This record gives sequence, C-alpha cells and structure tokens, in this order.
Amino acid sequence: MKLTILGNNSALPAYSRHPTAQLLEVNQQFHLIDCGEGTQMQLQLYGLSPFKIRCIYISHLHGDHYFGLVGLLSSLSLLGRTQELDLFGPQELKQIIEIQLVWELGYPLNFHALNFQESISIVEHKAVEVISFPVKHSIPTCGFQFIERKRKRILLPEKVREFEIPKYFYSKLTEGADYIKADGTIIANETLTLPGSVPKKYVYAADTQFLPELKQYFLDADVLYHETTYLQSDTAKAHLRMHATTVEAAEMALNSGVKKLLIGHFSSKYKDLSPFLEEAQTIFANTELALEGTTFDI
Ligand SMILES: [Zn+2]
Repeated sequence: MKLTILGNNSALPAYSRHPTAQLLEVNQQFHLIDCGEGTQMQLQLYGLSPFKIRCIYISHLHGDHYFGLVGLLSSLSLLGRTQELDLFGPQELKQIIEIQLVWELGYPLNFHALNFQESISIVEHKAVEVISFPVKHSIPTCGFQFIERKRKRILLPEKVREFEIPKYFYSKLTEGADYIKADGTIIANETLTLPGSVPKKYVYAADTQFLPELKQYFLDADVLYHETTYLQSDTAKAHLRMHATTVEAAEMALNSGVKKLLIGHFSSKYKDLSPFLEEAQTIFANTELALEGTTFDI
C-alpha cells in the first residue's frame, strides 16, 4: 500500500496547506480518504489520476473533509468516467450531493451510509478490507482501517516436484491446503510452501479527541495517522473543540504498538510545523509529519 498526502490542514487553508485529503493506493486502485476543498487540484499537481479512484470515504460532515467532493465527482463525469464509484459517508451526504448535482453523473455512484454506532467491515475487495469505526468528535465521525488481505503462501518449486504435486493443485497450496495423495498420504502444506509476507495495516483516525478506547482499532498498525490539531500548550483548546494534541497522538501510538505515526490536521494558527514533530517524537520516536505531496510506503 502507498499513501499520498493531499491535504494536511484543519478547518481553514493556510500557508499553502490544504484541508484534509489522502490517497491510498492498493493493488493499482485508489482509495480517497476525505476530500477537502482543492483535492482535485492536488491530484493534478501530484500526477495522480482521479480515474483510478475506486472508493471515496468521507469521515464526517465538517467542510474541511468534504467541500472538494462535488467538484471532483462532477469533473469525473465531464472527463467521461463510466466506471462505478463507491462513496461512503454520513447519511446526510447523499442529499447534499443530490442538491448540488442537478444533472446526472455519467457513471453509477453507489452511496453507502456509515454506521457511527459500531465498527463494521464496509469494503471487502480481493486485495484489501476496509473497516469503519466510530471516533469521538463534535459530530458523528468515523475512522477507517485498511487491512491487506492475507498474503498467499509461496510455493517451493523443488518440493512440489519432489512430491509430484499436480499443477492444478498449486493455487490451493498457495491458499494453505494440504495435499492428499491417492493412497491417502497427507503432504502438509508447510512442507511444500513458505508463509507469504505479513498483511499490512493502515489506520486513519480522522478528527478525534484523545480516546484510549480507540487503541483496539490502532493495534499493531504499520502506519497510524492521528490528528494533531494543536501543540501541547493548547491542550485546553484541543479538548474544548474535541481535537487532539501532539502528546496525545504520540501516547496513542505508543500504547497501541504501531510501527509508525503520521500526524496532521494542523491548526491554521501555526505556520511552523517543526514543534509538532519535536513534541510527538519525545514520546514516540518514529513519528513523521503528514506533509502534502509526500508518499509513504506502507
Ligand atoms: Zn477537520
């Protein structure tokens, strides 16, 4: 999986930083996570084709997370898209789109309402499963887990030949099956294959206040994106507005055993972002700023 940051600022654009949007590439398909104002321009700037977007996820209905959506949907139609698109968001988003788009799109837009009560699996593609989970913000908000499907086991050519396994059975071996010979002898899968690499996990925590219970969704993530709207000195403001600070995000990463922490959703009051990195790294060393235009391998 590859993650490109398209927007990393909070409510207002500032210092050339855009409102929130991220693009996750899985198996040559794009998953767009939130769609703040200017997202389609950012896609253009970084040479990312909007045609490869298969699913869009809108975490909540604050403008900095979806004001770029209708423009993008409209452009895709004008550019001649015919392939269907799955859109996940709060139920009200469906009506918002219908009011703004008075003409018909040239492609099927499948709308799926998010569930803010419990964690559920919303996408089960061949390469990835996406699970939404409720976080704690001033309006109903979901975060998303992106989990690669189990990697297939790797055939050992010499062993497969040695035990005379027929070719038609190779795909079953990669899925973990044992081979049973005509005389009933069982050749264990482990004799014939090696384990595939460990499936990767990316977690997007959206806008949320510090909430230790979210650990259950962050556990062992290869990369966790957690918002840090404020520095530690503005903790009171963060709590009032139901956002998180550098220190809080870093503590969540540390307690959840994640491998890397990305921080973003910076308040427009800060021009210099280096204090965000410094503060978070004092608690969780493997932290990086979610800088626009940066692509992270997951
Ligand atoms: Zn926001």
